Amino acid sequence: MPVTDDVLDLTEVLASYDPVIGLEVHVELSTATKMFCGCATTFGAAPNTQTCPVCLGLPGALPVANAAAVDAAIRIGLALNCSIAQRCRFARKNYFYPDMTKNFQTSQYDEPIAFDGHLDVEVPTGDGGSFTYRVEIERAHMEEDAGKSTHVTTGGGSSRIVGADHSLLDYNRAGTPLVEIVTRPLVGAGEHAPAVARAYVGALRDIVRALDVSDARMEQGSLRCDANVSLRPRAGEDRRGPEQLAVPLGTRTETKNVNSLRSVERAVVYEMTRQGAVLGSGAAVTQETRHWHEDSGTTSAGRPKSDADDYRYFPEPDLVPVAPSAERVEKLRATLPEPPDRRRRRLQGEWGLSDLELRDVVGSGALDLIDASVAAGASPAGARKWWMGEVLRRANAQARELGEMGLTPEHVAELDALVGAGRLNDSMARQVLDGVLAGEGTPEQVADDRGLALVSDDGALTDAVDRVIAANEAVAAKVRGGKVAAAGALIGQVMKEMKGQADAAKVRALILERLGVAG
Ligand code: ADP
Ligand code: MG
Ligand code: ZN
Repeated sequence: MPVTDDVLDLTEVLASYDPVIGLEVHVELSTATKMFCGCATTFGAAPNTQTCPVCLGLPGALPVANAAAVDAAIRIGLALNCSIAQRCRFARKNYFYPDMTKNFQTSQYDEPIAFDGHLDVEVPTGDGGSFTYRVEIERAHMEEDAGKSTHVTTGGGSSRIVGADHSLLDYNRAGTPLVEIVTRPLVGAGEHAPAVARAYVGALRDIVRALDVSDARMEQGSLRCDANVSLRPRAGEDRRGPEQLAVPLGTRTETKNVNSLRSVERAVVYEMTRQGAVLGSGAAVTQETRHWHEDSGTTSAGRPKSDADDYRYFPEPDLVPVAPSAERVEKLRATLPEPPDRRRRRLQGEWGLSDLELRDVVGSGALDLIDASVAAGASPAGARKWWMGEVLRRANAQARELGEMGLTPEHVAELDALVGAGRLNDSMARQVLDGVLAGEGTPEQVADDRGLALVSDDGALTDAVDRVIAANEAVAAKVRGGKVAAAGALIGQVMKEMKGQADAAKVRALILERLGVAG
């Protein structure tokens, strides 16, 4: 267990210091094959079954860059408003670790594929408002992942290397394509620095998902974030003013592998309060990596890390430089999706949602599903009603994602159409939904198989209405006399006669018509 560090109250930290953050995000690309060989990248395969001489780093094996991964890296760069290198090289980053057989990681150093970009992110202020913060992107470069070590203690328990009896190595992940995106030091955010960090990583995740280059699941490690944090003394009120900007940056720590958006925010807060206490005691912050502890919301010291750490980078002699033509870059630019935040705002307008309704839709993961349902022919209101109502209720009850319920946007469009055409009322539609979720088929099939349909035969309906009016003269008289609300009792009776298989709105209209009053 980590030693507990002293922390300073966040308000006090902000009164005396100006926080600066820097984020390094690794995105694992979802290409079918690895970065420099043809091995599959399928997740969950038996250990060491997806390896070859190249990704095992055997002497003499020659790597070849994966064109699909290069395209993905360029598209990420373009989506982040970066310049794309006309020519760039891979580099060897030399260090030893057993999960990396070559004793170097093939990465990029001073010649990244993409550089000098920015991303404008919408940062909530906590009081319902928000502001836009421009995150400057220093570079996005290509590299490969390492293998995976599992440290084993006899009798189970610790998964850490310290105290383990032996370690197992799986090289299936070795050579998986990664893109690392590095921000410039982000200044001027003040109290909002933790929220900026979270909003940026969230926006980046949305972008790589929209690009369809990674599933970007933080909890599964396909998007990993290292959060750098430092404090410098405050100089004047304005955190973006020239006096403040002239103050040299403080010593940073790098909290590794923070695995959720919420944790990114918490980790930044924690490091601010811990470093505040260190500086407040007159000591200096140690430049080091820190481990993030999800359960306690704290960090503990990792390894010291100086800027002079010497990885003996040198250009990779076994790979030709990457030199994407202007034409290729423009072709890739043409494939960029609508930026996620702009799309959200557009759909909000098209669907007529309030900010709160939009937030609910996005938060429950229904945005794409509703959009796809509308594309399949559903009305926006109908699609939203089903996904955010019945389906979400059931998904929550089963602790499942909306998209995993076995219901497709096409199903929802069909259901919406059946209701819209007057073939199903709401309660029937819910029964149809049950059937579809139970795997009984499409809404049409379920409605047919379960015999669910509103009576469309106007004759039968009119007969029932007349019978009910005749049998309830007293009520009918009240309605005729202007008490339209009394019609409710008659509607109920007709629905009963029709065994629920009638459109209530239609029944009401018929009754009022028969009694000679306007609805
Ligand atoms: P490293 O090799 O240490 O990982 P990188 O250049 O890959 O270095 O990333 C360092 C990150 O830390 C960048 O996002 C950078 O903007 C940020 N950074 C650099 N100096 C500071 C500082 N003093 N305070 C906060 N963040 C910093
Ligand atoms: Mg780095
Ligand atoms: Zn391989």
